[in-house]
Amino acid sequence: MTDDQHSTDGHADLVVAVDVGGTGMAAEVLDQERTTHASATAATPRGDGAAATRAVVALIEKVLSALPASARPAVRGIGLAIPGLVDTVRGVALYSANVGWHNTPVRDRVQAALGLPVVLHHDVTAAGEAEARFGAGRGVSDLLVVVIGTGIAAVVIGGNRVVHGGAGQAGELGHVVVRPDGPLCGCGQRGCLEALASASGIARSYTTATGRAVTGAADVWARLGRDAAADRVWQDATSALADGVLTACTLLAPDLVVFGGGLAEAGQDLLAPVHQQLTERARVASVPSFARTELGRRAGVIGAAANARDHWNSTGASTSTT
Ligand SMILES: [Zn+2]
Repeated sequence: MTDDQHSTDGHADLVVAVDVGGTGMAAEVLDQERTTHASATAATPRGDGAAATRAVVALIEKVLSALPASARPAVRGIGLAIPGLVDTVRGVALYSANVGWHNTPVRDRVQAALGLPVVLHHDVTAAGEAEARFGAGRGVSDLLVVVIGTGIAAVVIGGNRVVHGGAGQAGELGHVVVRPDGPLCGCGQRGCLEALASASGIARSYTTATGRAVTGAADVWARLGRDAAADRVWQDATSALADGVLTACTLLAPDLVVFGGGLAEAGQDLLAPVHQQLTERARVASVPSFARTELGRRAGVIGAAANARDHWNSTGASTSTT
């Protein structure tokens, strides 16, 4: 955190960016150079939408209170990235099972509580856009950003533009079926990539295979090379990922695939076997380069802030509440 000349002389253009995840939320006050001026985190209340909205407001109040008083007038507004199905035009959280929002006008509620304009965005899209513009995807016009955590989602960027799809649901890579007889996915399909290769899917596969509980995929990763069951589960997951990425590459022909989310912390232990299997299997698709996220856990807040700035710049003001 810095408290530099920009933040105290009142000329800086600051945005409060919030990334709401299924278990935790992070807030930062960012300037145009994406420098952090204050930050705070909080747990996400689960399954109670009203409590979640209150927690977002409280977190923003907390991060604003960490700013020097002289810098507060420079805060232009709030960029808010949330999970689930999001209507960014109306500012409504359509559906988020974990958080408990259902047709909730989150933008208007946060705006009313704080008296600052709010721009709502989808969390994975925000992170993917940030990675493409400011992170590992800089300078690449056709890429995929694949985020692997409790689920798997992708952001598709073609010709320097994010492909949203008609219903805004492009990029659901986690629900591409790669094993038709595979395990049941939370969505109701069988053999989705997410059921096999998400962090939670890997942990579940290991427990199913061994009867041993693990706290997450990091535990399985830590056992590679000295636990044959962990090696097998990891092999199955990377094989499924290679098939899912092959499907995406055959359709979209990206030059680069950037991996983010918690599982990407495994680095080359994840990327190398996926890339090797992709190379072995690809006959039609050209094999893209792989990279790890450069922005890491900050991708969501950086993307939320950039999206809010873009919105205000295109509409000419940050005072509009429409
Ligand atoms: Zn599914």
